[in-house]
Amino acid sequence: MRVLMVAPPGAGKGTQGAVIATHFGIPHIATGDLLRDHVARRTALGRAVQAHLDKGELVPDEIVLDMVQEALTAVAATGGGYVLDGVPRNMAQARATYQIGLELGMTADVALHLKADDRELKRRLLARAALEGRSDDTEEAIEHRLRLYHELTHPIVAWYGERGILVTVDAMRPADQVGREILAALEVMSSFVDHVPEQSRRAVDLTGLGAAFGEMTTDPSR
Ligand code: AMP
Repeated sequence: MRVLMVAPPGAGKGTQGAVIATHFGIPHIATGDLLRDHVARRTALGRAVQAHLDKGELVPDEIVLDMVQEALTAVAATGGGYVLDGVPRNMAQARATYQIGLELGMTADVALHLKADDRELKRRLLARAALEGRSDDTEEAIEHRLRLYHELTHPIVAWYGERGILVTVDAMRPADQVGREILAALEVMSSFVDHVPEQSRRAVDLTGLGAAFGEMTTDPSR
């Protein structure tokens, strides 16, 4: 199973990425974690990107794409499944990631979109700030990261919809419920991807499922 995740900050990419990786026994490649690790080890790359991370800015595409190239090349040698978390963040990264996948014969089977509204995301990120003290979980950096998500990252979702690999999940609910729904959807997709060519697939939107089964939504506007 080859999955990439498109989600705003605070939607649970890291948590759900780890759930997927454990379930399918595949590596979890999180660009944010790789970058924070460089910052913590004070490598040359870490020193170059620290200010971007602290302010909630995207680091230059070339840096992230080199990481993706390196990580996917390593994965190609060990079975080829992966969960990419944190990349792509803009259209140029989406196209480049697709190209890297094509060259290695391992483009993503599923683009998993976690959907949540900004008020809930801000609440979660500020709660996380108190626990983890991430340098980019300040109110100002959070606002900026959300703005960048809407401007640059979210538009990619439609592109994956057109490619027929999009699965959208409502991430407003507790993490264990979201995780169960993701795994159920991916299990269905994993048998499907081997038999149905990409151009014959349709985007899957699971965000109405909870309501359809009488579940209360935490979004007061719905
Ligand atoms: P994350 O852990 O995914 O929230 O990422 C934390 C920070 O790492 C982001 O705010 C960016 O500064 C940087 N970052 C992670 N992934 C990317 C990416 N694909 N492109 C640019 N910057 C990234």
